[in-house]
Amino acid sequence: MAGGFCLGLLGDPVAHSLSPRFQTAALRALGLSGSYEAIRVPAGELAERLAELAADGFTGLNVTVPLKEEAFALLAGDPVSAARLSPVARALAAVNTLHRTGGAWTGHNTDPEGFRRAAAELGATLAGCQAVLLGAGGAARAALWALLEAGAERVALWNRSPGRRDRLLADFATHPAGAALSALPTGMAVCPPEATLVVQATSLGLAPDDPLPPLPDPGTRPRCLDLVTHPSPWQRACLDAGCETADGRAMLLWQGAAAFTIWTERPAPVAAMRATLYPD
Ligand code: NAP
Repeated sequence: MAGGFCLGLLGDPVAHSLSPRFQTAALRALGLSGSYEAIRVPAGELAERLAELAADGFTGLNVTVPLKEEAFALLAGDPVSAARLSPVARALAAVNTLHRTGGAWTGHNTDPEGFRRAAAELGATLAGCQAVLLGAGGAARAALWALLEAGAERVALWNRSPGRRDRLLADFATHPAGAALSALPTGMAVCPPEATLVVQATSLGLAPDDPLPPLPDPGTRPRCLDLVTHPSPWQRACLDAGCETADGRAMLLWQGAAAFTIWTERPAPVAAMRATLYPD
């Protein structure tokens, strides 16, 4: 590997990822040498690949589906790295950013920061909001933690599978703001009218024939934040209903900006990064 910052993204699949484009733009914008590569790593192979990447000089990695929990477990099982897990990574039991210093990996999770910034760009105030959260996977977990930490008044959780919904609720029941949580019925087609923010954190919208996730109550105007990183039928329906709506690119941008700062100890050149995500 040539000199400079050796950075990358680990996951499966990773070929479609937008991260190499904007992280490479960030390096170039600051005149830093190095590279950011997408590296396919199937579940179960992270330990072996991390050792190889460390030997190859990699010092900064993003971790995506399906490896975030595996990365956490790996670091938590190593005495040196366990002591270095960030409080957010610990709270979510998931790692999305790795930084190698002093011969060991440090684990972070910048997804809640990405979510918080994306919500702010959409004009949503998380403190005191009445949120509906659609989904109960890793993205929903990060958004839920950010909502509770920011002081959301209510977070009502909907998911296709009630078991996963209930596990997520149970995991956060002991959070100091856990009393704000409630469950929505799996058969719900339309969100409760009191919602001021609807967060779409399922993977629906990735395939063209996906069913629509629940929509805002007609006649209400909650802000609608879809974590899917491209335009989707759900976003179109929310816009048609008159709601301020955004896709997941802002969250992706801001979680990546936070990771870039961890690796390089420099403020991220957000404008240059954003330009690659919003080319028009
Ligand atoms: P995940 O852990 O696999 O969770 C998937 C979620 O989607 C679960 O709630 C699942 O419900 C639901 N789902 C899947 N197929 C469904 C269907 N046919 N009908 C109803 N619900 C369905 O995935 P994740 O990591 O949370 O990612 C979720 C989405 O967020 C993806 O689109 C991902 O690209 C996006 N994301 C964006 C960012 C960003 O920075 N913008 C970051 C992370 C993730 P069940 O529990 O019932 O299976």
